[in-house]
Amino acid sequence: MEQSPVIKFFRGEQIPLELHKVRVVQKLNLVPIEERLKAIQDGGYNTFLLSTRHIYLDMLTDSGTNAMSDRQVASMLVADDAYAGSQSFDRMRDAVEQVFGTKFTAPVHQGRAAEHIIFQAFVKAGDVVPMNYHFTTTKAHIELPGGTIEEIFTDEALKIRSSFPFKGNIDIAKLRGLIKKHGAAKIPFVRMEASTNLIGGQPFSMANLREVRKVCDEHKLILLLDASLIGENAYFIKQREPEFRTTSIKDILRGMCDLCDLIYFSSRKVSSTRGGAITTNRQDLFDKVRDLVILFEGFLTYGGMSVREIEAMAVGLIETQDETVISQSPSFIKYLVEKLDARGIPVILPGGALGCHVDARGFLPHVPQAEYPAGALAAAFFLASGVRGMERGTVSSVRDANGNDVLADLELLRLAVPRRVFTLSQIEYVADRMTWLYENRSLIGGLKFAQEPKVLRFFLGKLVPTSPWPEKLLAKFRKDFGDSL
Ligand SMILES: *Cc1c(COP(=O)(O)O)cnc(C)c1O
Repeated sequence: MEQSPVIKFFRGEQIPLELHKVRVVQKLNLVPIEERLKAIQDGGYNTFLLSTRHIYLDMLTDSGTNAMSDRQVASMLVADDAYAGSQSFDRMRDAVEQVFGTKFTAPVHQGRAAEHIIFQAFVKAGDVVPMNYHFTTTKAHIELPGGTIEEIFTDEALKIRSSFPFKGNIDIAKLRGLIKKHGAAKIPFVRMEASTNLIGGQPFSMANLREVRKVCDEHKLILLLDASLIGENAYFIKQREPEFRTTSIKDILRGMCDLCDLIYFSSRKVSSTRGGAITTNRQDLFDKVRDLVILFEGFLTYGGMSVREIEAMAVGLIETQDETVISQSPSFIKYLVEKLDARGIPVILPGGALGCHVDARGFLPHVPQAEYPAGALAAAFFLASGVRGMERGTVSSVRDANGNDVLADLELLRLAVPRRVFTLSQIEYVADRMTWLYENRSLIGGLKFAQEPKVLRFFLGKLVPTSPWPEKLLAKFRKDFGDSL
C-alpha cells in the first residue's frame, strides 16, 4: 500500500511543491516584443519555425524535453558500447520487464519507428483499427499500408469543460458495433493510447481497459497499448479511480500492462531520452516484429538508439514508478488550468497530462475556423510572452481530395509542461500573459497559408496574418506594459 505524498500548507493554499532541486541550469532568452514580432514574421507564424534564441519558455512539446535525473545522467557514463550483446540493453530489457511485466523487448529509435514496424507487420489494405483517439504519427503509419482508423471515444471526450475524469475511455458499445460492422478479421488490433495526447492528455480508466480486454477476448482480438504517456495515466487512475486510491503506481502500471498483448512507447515522453521500444509477453507477436526491427532500426540490442540513451531509458523507466516524479507535470498543469479557468479563460478541463490546452475557438470566437484560430492564438501568445506553444487544430489537419481543409474537432493551443523543467513563477508568468492576451483578444485576427507543404504541413508550413493585427497587439502591449520585456 502506498499513499500519495500529501503536503498541506498552513493557510490552506493548494500549491504544487517541487520534490527535486535544480542542479544544472540553462540560460533563457526573454527578448523585447519587437524582436519577437520579427521572429514570428520570419517563422511564417508557425511556432515550429522559431529559434530558441527568441524563446523564453519552450512549451512546444514534452517530447525529449523532460529534465533528466542525476541518476539518469550518471548511468550514461557506464554505457556498454557493443554492436551486439550490450549489457546496456540487458539493463533496459530488465527495466522494461520490471515496469511493464513483459519479457520480449526490442528497442527502436523513437515512437513512430515502433508504429512503423507494428503497422507494417500487422495492418493490411482494408483493415480498420479502432482506438480511443488517434495520434498524428499513428494515423499516418496505419494509412501507409492501406488501413484506416476509427475513433470510438465517449461523448464526453471532446467537451472542453467537463468534470469527467476519464475522457480517454473507449465507448464499449461503439467498439462492439464496429466489430459487428467490419468483422474481427478486418481488425488487426484495438489500440488504446494512454493519456490520450490530442484530446488534452486525457486518461482512460482501468475499468474501461478491463472492458476493452473483455471484448477483445470475446473476438480473439489483439489489444495494443501506446504507452508513451503511461506513467501519467497510472497517476490519474490512482487519483481519480476510487478502487486504486491506495494502490502503488508500480502495481497500477503492471495492472494496465497485464491487460494488453502488445505495447510500444516513445521514450522521448516516458523517460526524457531519445528512443522507444516494442514489448510483449507473446512470442508469436514478438516474432512478427523482430525481423523488421533489424531491417529498419538496427540490431536487437540497440535498435537505432545510442547505448547512453538505452542506459538513461532504463533508469527513467524505473523512476516512472515513483509518484513524486510522475505527479510533477500533472500537478503543475492542474495549477495552471485552474488558475486560467478561474479567470474565465477557456481551457480543457479537467487538466490532463502533457500540458495545458487552451480552447482557441472559445478564446477567439470572432476568428472563423478557416482562418486557423489555434494557429493565430499560438502566434499571438508567443508575441505577448515569448512562450512557445503548439497549434493543435486545423493547421495540424489536412486537405481533402477537393483541396478543402478538413476542419479539426478541436482548435487548441497546447502549452506543454515537460517534467521538472519549469518553476512555479514561470507558470505564474504564463498565466499572467495569457490573462492579458484574453483581455485583448478582440485585437487578434486570423491567418492564411502562404507556403503549404503536402504532408504534415504544420511542421514547415508558412502563414501570414489576414490583417495587420500583430502590429496592433504590439502597440497595445507597449501601452499597457511600458518598457517591460
Ligand atoms: C509522441 C508520441 C508518439 C510518437 O513518438 P515519437 O518519439 O515522437 O516518434 C506516439 N504516440 C504518442 C501517444 C505520442 O505522444
